[in-house]
Amino acid sequence: MDVEIDGLSVEFSGARVVQDISLRAGSGQFVGLVGPNGSGKSTVLRCVYRALRPTAGVVRIDGDDLPATSARESARRLAALPQEAVAEFDFTVAEVVAMGRVPHQGALARDTDEDRRTCAAALDGVGAGHLAGRGFLTLSGGEKQRVLIARALAQQPRVMVLDEPTNHLDIAQQLEVLSLVRASGLTVLTALHDLNLAALHCDLLHVVDGGRIVASGAPHDVLTPALLAEVFGVRAHRVPHPETGAVQLLFDRLPAQ
Ligand code: ADP
Ligand code: MG
Repeated sequence: MDVEIDGLSVEFSGARVVQDISLRAGSGQFVGLVGPNGSGKSTVLRCVYRALRPTAGVVRIDGDDLPATSARESARRLAALPQEAVAEFDFTVAEVVAMGRVPHQGALARDTDEDRRTCAAALDGVGAGHLAGRGFLTLSGGEKQRVLIARALAQQPRVMVLDEPTNHLDIAQQLEVLSLVRASGLTVLTALHDLNLAALHCDLLHVVDGGRIVASGAPHDVLTPALLAEVFGVRAHRVPHPETGAVQLLFDRLPAQ
């Protein structure tokens, strides 16, 4: 299942914060959006998970325009982890994960045995089965993120959209969260703050600056010292990862002009 963003623009009170963005995440691809704070990444993703209606352009999932698809149908295809997802859920972990089943249920339906099995498998799959009875609010940041991934997996979508899913996590948790998402095999579109994590995990990167895509391609081709100086204002040295050969970056300040 693929996601196609075509000519997307977003204005807030006349100010254009996303300008004519087009990109595609092919079936099973892990696609990253990187860019400085305020460049428009979250705004693009919010249009994809229908929290925001674009001023122009369309988002298609498997060829179907999103506005033409019911909210329920699009929730069966696509699950989202928004940037500040952790709205105060005063629920148990099991209840939070069960919310992922709602798009598959009738109006007044109760959870079926199959729903319960799907939720338990999703929680076990992220190594959080032991947390089922805990209050969501009592969890650490990493545990919350794992539970929200389990909720997204219980939704049985084909596409996952994530907005900086590794924020506030320690390094082990950051690596774990991205591995879990990768292991799902779903089509993934994610904003990522950390360029080295993006380089390790993404098949394809789009660099967003000032609401436009300024570079696209494989991490190795996109994360050049010239682009990093231009877009992020840093001096970057490229080093191959000693085991995988993936491009990794060391940063310095740009010399004073
Ligand atoms: P990023 O996720 O790359 O940090 P955002 O998409 O959150 O960037 O924001 C892009 C720009 O749009 C910023 O200048 C931000 O202040 C502005 N913006 C985002 N949402 C709104 C809104 N609801 N109203 C007005 N401006 C907004
Ligand atoms: Mg953002």
